[in-house]
Amino acid sequence: MAFSFFNTLGRRMQVFDPIRPGKVGFYGCGPTVYNYAHIGNLRAYVTHDILVRSLRRAGYEVTHVMNITDVGHLSGDNDEGDDKMVKSAEERGKSVLEVADFYTGAFFTDTLRMNILRPTVVCRATEHITDMIALIGRIEAGGYTYSAGGNLYFDISKFPAYGELALLRLEEQKAGARTGVDENKRNAGDFVLWFTRSKFENQALVWDSPWGRGYPGWHIECSAMSIKYLGEQFDIHSGGIDHISIHHTNEIAQSEAATGKHPWVKYWIHNEFLVLDKGKMSKSAGGFLTLQSLVDAGYDPLDYRYFLLGGHYRSQLQFSYKALEGAKNARKSLLDRVRVLAGKAGAASGSAEARDPRQTRPEQTEKYREGFNRALEDDLSTPRAMAELWGLLRDNSPEPAAVLEAAFDMDRVLGLGLEAAAKQEKPAEDEDLAREIEGLVAERAAAKKAKNFALADSIRAGLKDRGFILEDGPAGTVWRRS
Ligand code: AMP
Ligand code: ZN
Repeated sequence: MAFSFFNTLGRRMQVFDPIRPGKVGFYGCGPTVYNYAHIGNLRAYVTHDILVRSLRRAGYEVTHVMNITDVGHLSGDNDEGDDKMVKSAEERGKSVLEVADFYTGAFFTDTLRMNILRPTVVCRATEHITDMIALIGRIEAGGYTYSAGGNLYFDISKFPAYGELALLRLEEQKAGARTGVDENKRNAGDFVLWFTRSKFENQALVWDSPWGRGYPGWHIECSAMSIKYLGEQFDIHSGGIDHISIHHTNEIAQSEAATGKHPWVKYWIHNEFLVLDKGKMSKSAGGFLTLQSLVDAGYDPLDYRYFLLGGHYRSQLQFSYKALEGAKNARKSLLDRVRVLAGKAGAASGSAEARDPRQTRPEQTEKYREGFNRALEDDLSTPRAMAELWGLLRDNSPEPAAVLEAAFDMDRVLGLGLEAAAKQEKPAEDEDLAREIEGLVAERAAAKKAKNFALADSIRAGLKDRGFILEDGPAGTVWRRS
């Protein structure tokens, strides 16, 4: 497969050509573990997952590295505000590491529930302080730093390519509006590599360094850990669009200043935001939706995954329970269809054809598989990929076993649990639901007979809201999913 990705660096579609043939080094910025991930964060990790799964299915050997930020991330990405970890620990009366352990566990529980594959390497910032100190040493040796007010800063005026990713103009960054928060900065865009002066008197996590006892700035961890696990130049780096202008811009400046190699990363892939009806979702502002809150409202984590796949990762996606309900119903229909096909394929399994689905006129399913591949190659278009899956499942001409084989292959990327669904031909939940609906249909028939049309109509409307259509015919009423 020949992938093209929209590269934020240069703002254009580019054919994917990895540095080492057949291998991909990929770094995706991981969570800051001071709270649960919100469902917007999970969009970023589903995007990483689709990327990794697509590349692996195409035969690449992907090394996926993800950091866990448990130190140094202030509430403002630009060295302003409170330390997120320290503040959370104080609020909860726990140590920073206890908070980090708890939310790291919660994060991987969420990602597991959403069928997001665990990265090849998961690395915690606090376990890589030595690597960060070594990298900062290289940056300092190159003359890119200065000390002021007890902290070590990166001087962006020494790095002419600063801001290339975000299309920032260095002149503006140099002058810029001073925030007034950190008077030590020579240029507005300068950032801290190492803090010795903490805003918190009882800063719990501090380490010795050539610049004094303190702790690292936020950005340096991603440079240090990605270089450690992927080398001084690697293929893909990603995160949400909020990271373009500061975090990733600073990561590039640090890494290239340290190694002297350009480009540090060949392809930058950024996901757009998930927004709520009421606007932006953010962890620090509180009041955000977690995966568990969706589960508590009656949704499966894979309903949410299905919902996310319906939007292209570079388009803003608006979350609403109505839209999630639609995804839930669609996923249910998808699994129902897979179960029906599995039943048919099982019934036909005595035939030689069914035993080897690839022998049954492959061109009938190949066109969908081809369409699916084209969709992914075109900057990971999951909405189009999903349409191909649906087209395949709705097509009655190929043998059911062949349809399933192609659908399972697509699901290696989509991760919707189709094979597991095929194994449970009729889940208990379905039987209970069917019984309940049959009961309501009978109740409506009785109401009509008694000329209580208001009740009959309200039963029909209630079922419609839940995604079921009633059709009255000569043989009585039948129901189906809408
Ligand atoms: P954080 O834990 O705040 O460092 O964020 C983790 C990831 O989620 C980063 O890649 C962010 O860019 C991304 N992110 C944050 N908010 C959203 C959102 N509302 N929609 C999509 N991605 C987001
Ligand atoms: Zn990062």
